Parts: sequence; C-alpha cells; structure tokens
Amino acid sequence: ESQKETLGFQTEVKQLLQLMIHSLYSNKEIFLRELISNASDAEDKLRFAALKDDSLYEGDSELRIRLSYDKDANTVTIADNGIGMTRDDVIQNLGTIAKSGTAEFLKQLSGDEKKDSKLIGQFGVGFYSAFIVADRVEVFTRRAGAPVAEGVHWESKGDGEFTIAQVDREQRGTEIVLHLKSDANEFADGFRLRGLVKKYSDHISFPVVMQSESEEEGKKGEDETVNDATALWTLPRTEIKDDEYKEFYKHIAHDFEDPLTWSHNKVEGKLDYTSLLYIPARAPFDLYNREAPRGLKLYVQRVFIMDDAEQFLPLYLRFAKGVVDSNDLSLNVSREILQNDSTVESIRTALTKRVLDMLSKLAKKDPEQYQKFWGEFGTVLKEGPAEDFSNREKIAGLLRFASTHTGEESQKVSLDEYIGRMKEGQKKIFYITADNFMAAKSSPHLEVFRKKGIEVLILSDRIDEWMMGYLSEYDSKQFQDVARGDLDLGDVETEEDKKQKEAAAEEHKELLERIKKALEDKVQDVRATNRLTDSPACLVVGEFDMGAQMKKIMEAAGQ
Ligand code: ADP
Ligand code: MG
Repeated sequence: ESQKETLGFQTEVKQLLQLMIHSLYSNKEIFLRELISNASDAEDKLRFAALKDDSLYEGDSELRIRLSYDKDANTVTIADNGIGMTRDDVIQNLGTIAKSGTAEFLKQLSGDEKKDSKLIGQFGVGFYSAFIVADRVEVFTRRAGAPVAEGVHWESKGDGEFTIAQVDREQRGTEIVLHLKSDANEFADGFRLRGLVKKYSDHISFPVVMQSESEEEGKKGEDETVNDATALWTLPRTEIKDDEYKEFYKHIAHDFEDPLTWSHNKVEGKLDYTSLLYIPARAPFDLYNREAPRGLKLYVQRVFIMDDAEQFLPLYLRFAKGVVDSNDLSLNVSREILQNDSTVESIRTALTKRVLDMLSKLAKKDPEQYQKFWGEFGTVLKEGPAEDFSNREKIAGLLRFASTHTGEESQKVSLDEYIGRMKEGQKKIFYITADNFMAAKSSPHLEVFRKKGIEVLILSDRIDEWMMGYLSEYDSKQFQDVARGDLDLGDVETEEDKKQKEAAAEEHKELLERIKKALEDKVQDVRATNRLTDSPACLVVGEFDMGAQMKKIMEAAGQ
C-alpha cells in the first residue's frame, strides 16, 4: 500500500450512518440486497461501456458476482467484475451523499425506530447499509481498463472517518469485505446467505456464484450459481410470483417498501418492447425537487443503457418506476437521441396510457390502496391536465376532492361519484377554490348550494386553481367555479328563484347604484343575488378574471 490517507465523511454521511444502524437494527439482512444490487449495477455499467470499447473486459467478459464467507474470520465478501472505481470515484461515492436536500431530510428523523426506518426507506440506504452488520468494512476496487497499479483500498469503521490507499489489484471491479459485528455473525453462513440471495436477488441479470458446500470428495469448492440470474422482465408473466415482482422493484427503485401495484407487458408488432412499471407506496423525499432523478431504467435488447431515462414518461407521472427494454432502439442510443426519436415518442404515449390505466384499475379494485396513492402523489397527478391535454379526461377521472358532501378535508370524492349524486336538472360540476379548506367551507358562496342540497367540490391545494384552468369539462359536464360570474344552477333554479332575483334587483335598484358609486373603482358591478342565505354580501370574480389563488401566485412571482 502507498499514500495511505485518512479522510472524514461528509457530515450527512455521519448522521445517516448513525441513524441507519439504529433504525434498521431489526432489518439487518437488507445489506446483502443493497450490495448485490450495487454489484449488479456495476456489471451493467461495464457491459454498457464495453459496447464502445471491449478492451474494458480485459479478456474476461463473463460477468458475475461472487459471494463468499469465512466463518473463522467472521467475514462476508461480495465481489463483482464490473466497472470498478477510481480513487476519485471512491472518495465521492463512499464518502459523501450526492442527493440534494439530504440535510433537510435528515432533520426529520426522530430517533423513533419505526418511523425512522420508513423514512430511511424513502431515502434509500445503499452502500452504507454495510455498517448495519459490519463494524469494519474494506473495499478493494479497480476501474475497468485502468492499470493494475491504480487499485484502491478503502477502509472504515463507520465512525466518521475512512482511509484510502493505492494498491496493486489484478482483478478489475469491486470487492467488499464485511467484518461482521458479533451480533451479526449469523451471516457468515452458506445456508443463510443462499437463502437471502434467493429471497432478494434471484432475478437480477447476473449470476451470483458461491462455492459449493458439498462434502462429496472432489466436489467441494466448485462454483455454483445460487440465483436464477435471468432479468425478471424477460420472463413470462405467468412464471413470476408477486414476491418476485416486489423484490425486483426494491432492486431498481432503491425502496424498502412493497410497491402498490405494477404492470408488466410485452409488446410486439409495430413496436417491440417490454415494460415493467411500478407505482410506489411512498413518495421519495425529493419528489418536488426538480433536479431529483426520475424516469425509467432503459435497456436495449437486454443490455442496460441508462438509469433515469426521463423521455419515457411525462413529468406528472414521475413517481412511476420501472424498466423499459426496447428491441427497436440502437445500442448506442444517447439522451440526446432519445429526446427526438419517434419510437421513443410512441413508447412514451403507450406507457403513459399504461400508468393511467394501472391507476384506474387500482382505484376500482382497491379504493383504500388508491387513497394511499392519492395521499402520496395526488398533487403530482394534478399537474397532468396542463401537461397532457390529450389524456385530461382520463386524468380527471383519477382526481380526488374534498367536498361539501363529506364535509371532510381529506380528498376522497371522485368526479364519477359527484356526478352520481347530481340533482335532477343540475348540469354543471360546481367547485370552490380557497387558500385552505376551512376558508372554502365557510365561504358565503356555498349558502345557496347548501339550501338547494347541491354538492360543491372544495379545492384548496396551491395547484388547484391553476389545474382547473386546464379542465373545462368531464363526462360532458362543465366545471363551474361558484365564486365566478353569473351563477347558473341549471334547472335546479326554479322559475320562482329567477323571479325573486329580478324582483330584488328592481326593488333595490337605488341602493345598488349607491353602493356601486361608493365603491367606484374597487368593483366592476354590484348586483342583487339569491346566492346568499345568511351573509349580506359577497365578492364575485368575473367569469374571465384571474381567481384569488392565481392572483397570489402571480404576485408572489413578481408579476
Ligand atoms: P446507489 O446505488 O443508489 O447509487 P449506493 O449508496 O448503493 O447508491 O452506492 C453509491 C455509489 O457507489 C453508486 O452509485 C456507485 O457509483 C458506487 N458503487 C457502489 N458499489 C459499487 C460497486 N460494487 N461497483 C462500482 N461502483 C459502486
Ligand atoms: Mg445502491
């Protein structure tokens, strides 16, 4: 070894390590999934890089992950012959956390094991999970194609510092040696490790190899592949168990929790591709961060091409995770090419429909789960009508609202339900927008609706008014903001009501003129109304004027 240096972890890493070790104590075994997942990613990356330069294989193109253990030394070792890391890569990847917003995220952690383990799941623990089971971790690595002398030895006890040194390393790729804690020595066991590989990593694309345990003379020590090692999405649906779909999701999505639902499809004909799409059960901590990675894992003819291919789904479906494997794209496709490729455009249209259909199905089949989805991702889906005009009817069908019918703040009412409850003669879907639920609920605009027993949807998310600007109708029924223009209750308004309104206008003509004069340049008009039952007066926005919420957004933006 030469040039051994001691460096400190980034503050966020130190915090994460402590919290993680504590909160995942009862979930120790996931370290193996994380490390094998990384090894598999590294093999994928090498295969991709070797498309352009096959000297990177250094004469060994048989990609595999080797898992071994030493009971006496109390170690477990995970070795891959993938892309490997340079010294700079190691310092960057195993000493810092690159995700923006990490510091804020860590502040939310409370010290309560149950709560924190969920939050940490949202964050994804990755490599650092090694320290759940090990009190010392060594990493030996060499970047594919780099000279033997540029191997790197990294070592840490997970207590704030690591050392890094240059070493000779014949083998390219990465080897991780876990020196197990005394309460984790159960993992230095062939049977246990095999079980975990089957459970968590059966369907990654590469073989996980272990030495056979057989006592038979001459057989001992032979290599055997312990996982199935065929990429899950290439198998027929009928051969895949739910648990296998779930584990595969965790591998690609870096999530701990099971997904809510998934959709696996092989498309042949004009387009030729396979997709496996998932809806997560929880929003990632950086869902609203514009720079956060999103998109699908792209494969071309089963060769990994890139993570986060964002061209395959619109922004408002950025919560969806999954894989798309195309037989039409070229192996040297780049992000730039993806941006204006007609095949990609067609796949995107089809996948968008798939995700929307998957959500409709979930809403029908399991309203409770759908409600969970809505709670996590509803506000993202609300970006849909503006972004995706052609699917706005479908998206509208997926929206959920608070309403005067339930009187609750939680958003549970669908437009179909609303329509099912419409009064005879009611032609429009009525809604009210306000800064918050309570303000909307107590608005004088609702008085006449209460009197007539007409349901009004209550919209109080920041995005709502903006969204409604892109929704004019659903199921051929127009949307009507109750605080806007002349109120048309359709046939629910009786002749009697109309007469009353006209009579009132006539009777109070002088008063109306006087009020109008007094308010002169503050209002456009003053009218008599039968909108109100308890309040003496209310403000109404012109049919084509900007709403109150929208005004605030524009003001905040300095317009
Ligand atoms: P993630 O896998 O979500 O990127 P991890 O914490 O698991 O996060 O890993 C951090 C980074 O370290 C990876 O993105 C990768 O660049 C690098 N890395 C980890 N394990 C390996 C490996 N076996 N071979 C090469 N690079 C690795
Ligand atoms: Mg990882």
